[in-house]
Amino acid sequence: MAVKKRPCRVCRKWFVPDVHEGLRQQFCTSAKCQKERHRRGCAAWRKRNPDWDRADRLRRRMHVEDTPVARETIAKDPMRGVRWDKVRAAVGVGVAVVVEETCGMVSDFSRQLRKQKNRPKTRGKMG
Ligand SMILES: [Zn+2]
Repeated sequence: MAVKKRPCRVCRKWFVPDVHEGLRQQFCTSAKCQKERHRRGCAAWRKRNPDWDRADRLRRRMHVEDTPVARETIAKDPMRGVRWDKVRAAVGVGVAVVVEETCGMVSDFSRQLRKQKNRPKTRGKMG
C-alpha cells in the first residue's frame, strides 16, 4: 500500500511519511519540526506525569550516597541504603514508621531465609 502525502503539523508543508511510520508520522523530517515534535512530546509527557519531577527528587534524596563502603553496608542490610530522615520529612512520621518497620520485617525475613538456605546439613537426607 502506497503511503499518502500529508501536511506537517508544524510547518504545514506536505511530506511523504516514512513507510514504516505511515499514518502515525505527523511531522516532516526537518530539524525545526522534529525539535517541535520533541518539545510537544515532552510537554504531553509532563502533563501525563505531573508529579514525576517531585518524585524523582525525593527518590534521589532518599538513597544514601553511593560509595564502595555504602555498597558493602547495603549488601549486608538493604535498610541502611535508605535515608529514613528524608523519608520521614517527605511523608510524615506515621507513614515513614509503617514503611520502615514493614521493610525491616521483610528484610529480616529474607535474611533468615538466606541463613536457612546456607546452613550446612548436619543430618543425612531422609526420604
Ligand atoms: Zn514540518
